[in-house]
Amino acid sequence: MIDPFGRHVSYLRVSVTDRCDFRCTYCMPEQMSFLPKKDVLTLEEIDRLCSVFVAKGVNRLRITGGEPLVRRGVMNLFRSLSRHLESGALEDLTLTTNGSQLARFAGELRQCGVRRVNISLDTLDPEKFHSVTRWGNLAQVLGGIDAAREAGLKVKINVVALRGINEDEIPTLMDWAHSRGFDMTLIETMPMGDIDGDRTENYLPLSLVRARLSENYTLEPTSERTGGPARYVRVRETGGKLGFITPLTHNFCESCNRVRLTCTGILYMCLGQDDSADLLTPLRASPDDNDVSAAIDDAIARKPKGHDFIIDRRHNRPAVARPMSLTGG
Ligand code: SAM
Repeated sequence: MIDPFGRHVSYLRVSVTDRCDFRCTYCMPEQMSFLPKKDVLTLEEIDRLCSVFVAKGVNRLRITGGEPLVRRGVMNLFRSLSRHLESGALEDLTLTTNGSQLARFAGELRQCGVRRVNISLDTLDPEKFHSVTRWGNLAQVLGGIDAAREAGLKVKINVVALRGINEDEIPTLMDWAHSRGFDMTLIETMPMGDIDGDRTENYLPLSLVRARLSENYTLEPTSERTGGPARYVRVRETGGKLGFITPLTHNFCESCNRVRLTCTGILYMCLGQDDSADLLTPLRASPDDNDVSAAIDDAIARKPKGHDFIIDRRHNRPAVARPMSLTGG
């Protein structure tokens, strides 16, 4: 699949549920209203949609949410999608998770062909962790991370950089991750969905974080990529890799290879734009996949050039109304 700007679309992210067992302050309000269960695709429908994308050339699939591992039966989806790994059509089946359920599922994920996992962790301080996630328990997540490592999954730690919350802890987090052999990626907070507070207060540009890190570490640029939006450096002192996802200070749309499917069957061609395509109607209209396939072609032909996220005092409304948990981070 090639979009109007010549970009190959080969990466699908699928939000399998908008529900989550955490309430991260920058992601959603504490009293979040979730989609009625009847509006959510069945796991069989998600499998079918993913399989159409794979047949059309998608070779990387990331399962996300919400928290993907709280969706009942989600292991059946991983198990069934693993057939595309076996056939060679899919190169990578992976997930983004908050880690809370990994102690239970890490071994099974590995058996399903998952080789690497992104785990979100914004702080190593138990109280801060509780205040950022509202409902999360750090010890449980650290146990999940250990379980992933023991199961032989390659772990990447995702950290949202938050002014006044974890900005002083970033070197500690990086030393911790690299000493365990984990890559770490920093993410700028994006203006998506309403939250209880004001995002501008916690927005921390990664250009600043990078400059501060450079005072004590040698950051050696590398051309290594993992197929996502992060740009990496190798940190000479730790030997580990550090990624920067900078949708605000430097957008990376020129190399975007991704589209995102919600758990209601809506395809978003850009994380930061509202245009979308309904795949649910063609999916349910016919047991053969021709209509869905045509709807995907139409959607790819409309993939926008990029997003234009801005966060400052004059732009403190979300750029898009839907939260990250719906579109899938
Ligand atoms: N529940 C899973 C998790 O915590 O990784 C997967 C979904 S979560 C929406 C995916 C990632 O998006 C997490 O790393 C989270 O920190 C990040 N995220 C959520 N809202 C965000 C926002 N407004 N800006 C930047 N990152 C955000």
